[in-house]
Amino acid sequence: MTDLDGKVVLVTGAARGQGAAEARLLTAAGARVVLTDVREPEGRAVAAGLGPDRAVFVRHDVTSAEDWARAVDTALTGYGRLDGLVNNAALWRTAPLESETYDNFELLLRVNLLGPFLGMRAALPALRAAGGGSVVNVSSTAGLVGVPGHAAYGAGKFGLRGLSRSAARDLAAYGVRVNSVHPGAVDTPMTAAVADKDWSHVPLGRMGRPEEVAGLVAYLLSDAASYVTGAEFTVDGGLTA
Ligand code: NAD
Repeated sequence: MTDLDGKVVLVTGAARGQGAAEARLLTAAGARVVLTDVREPEGRAVAAGLGPDRAVFVRHDVTSAEDWARAVDTALTGYGRLDGLVNNAALWRTAPLESETYDNFELLLRVNLLGPFLGMRAALPALRAAGGGSVVNVSSTAGLVGVPGHAAYGAGKFGLRGLSRSAARDLAAYGVRVNSVHPGAVDTPMTAAVADKDWSHVPLGRMGRPEEVAGLVAYLLSDAASYVTGAEFTVDGGLTA
């Protein structure tokens, strides 16, 4: 089990799916976690299940710089420090390029790319004050290869991959590591509509479970990954092998 004892981590999009699984695994590994999301009742319920001394929920829209300031402040006032940031929140909507809309393209870039940028900017002073930290940006295999119908989502996830590499270069001087994680198909509310399709094209023959992404995220947040930055990690059952 990864050791995160004493670390404080902020996880966005933690009301359900992979973010909730990450919050559960991180607290089990000894971290205290600030869970954030726009889904307030679900987020509060997940945090309550983890215990008030271990987890707190903040309503937080990742496209809002003001919300980011409040979320980081919650970590500092509640737990006294911030060691890790998981930019996990995202929207997934698909459409063929010819019918993709201006509004949807802009919305997905705002949530899936501008959000993580605002997050890294907001968290940096606290991460530096903690002596260096770890940022995990949750991209996708759609940020590694082209996928039909993924013009907006893929643009955001490819962008997040580039943002991560660039930030890793900028923030290494402060001891802050930045890596990206690229899940394949994972069984969460995001993919509920496609969960019962045939996954035989995936070498491991099935969808991933949220906990299987969380384990990788926990590793990247831990001191076991102290020399790992600017790297990309697939967790896709071999889909892009
Ligand atoms: P999910 O939809 O179950 O959870 C995402 C959470 O993000 C939701 O709780 C949602 O409310 C929140 N969110 C959306 N917009 C927000 C905003 N503006 N501000 C704050 N929170 C917001 O999805 P998931 O499957 O758990 O996905 C987690 C991450 O993994 C996402 O970045 C997603 O793109 C990525 N991913 C998922 C899959 C998959 O198959 N599930 C595959 C590749 C990548």
